[in-house]
Amino acid sequence: MSDPEIHLPAYLAGKRQLAADESFEFTCHPGVPCFNQCCADVNIILTPLDVLQLARRTGLHTRLFLDTYTGNPITKDLQLPVVLLKMRDDEGKKCPFVGEEGCTVYQDRPWACRMYPLGMAIPPARAGVEPEPIFFVFEDDHCQGRLQPDAVAWTAERWRADQRLVERDEIEAGFRELVSHPWFIGGRQLDPKRMHMLYTACYDLDSFREFVFESTFLERFELDDDLVADIKTNDVALLRFAFRWLRFALFKEPTMKVREGAAERSVQ
Ligand code: SF4
Ligand code: SF4
Repeated sequence: MSDPEIHLPAYLAGKRQLAADESFEFTCHPGVPCFNQCCADVNIILTPLDVLQLARRTGLHTRLFLDTYTGNPITKDLQLPVVLLKMRDDEGKKCPFVGEEGCTVYQDRPWACRMYPLGMAIPPARAGVEPEPIFFVFEDDHCQGRLQPDAVAWTAERWRADQRLVERDEIEAGFRELVSHPWFIGGRQLDPKRMHMLYTACYDLDSFREFVFESTFLERFELDDDLVADIKTNDVALLRFAFRWLRFALFKEPTMKVREGAAERSVQ
């Protein structure tokens, strides 16, 4: 049974919730009869690390990658930026990265593609409580992976380790802290300027690096020299730094030290 306090997104409604020690059967390889069929006409929400890795994979500036390969759903009650992988604009609506042999960006495939057939929900923020994710299993008719004779029994934990989700989730822990931040308790919403800050720092990392190194940013904040050198060239370090800076810029947490004399109004 689902926790009655958790408002599940529509795509998880009615799915089987997995207890920590509960298993599901699954395999996926070129021999399954449905191979590649799931890589079309599907909503894939990209995380910041997904965008970064796919932009590097395609050799595009993150801004150009976002413009070329993603879209943002337009809904008036959107509380946070959502970045969706755009399917091809033809009848088959295939993923732009699917080929005859399967996923052409397999090593850099998105979080959602690694998770399938699992789904995850994070309970809403409660002051002083670290939200624990809960897992669901999709048993879609089109997916025959669970019915194959070589299907393997997985727990959510083993599946996430196998798909290298644990290390990715560690990198993006700061992102989950942002989107489930207690500031949002009671339905508070970010204004358009702060939504744009969140979008740029999390998803358009090359533009965020330009902002850090080509504006007065480094004159306004005290940062260790080692950190500055690291975020100049290390994408993951910059992503972690972006999450840290956003806690200051969006929620006024003391995660950044303003240099003496830098006016408060000019630091965000
Ligand atoms: S990114 Fe790869 S695994 Fe994900 S939908 Fe596209 S082709 Fe399939
Ligand atoms: S539908 Fe399921 S088993 Fe078939 S290719 Fe996709 S994930 Fe694999």
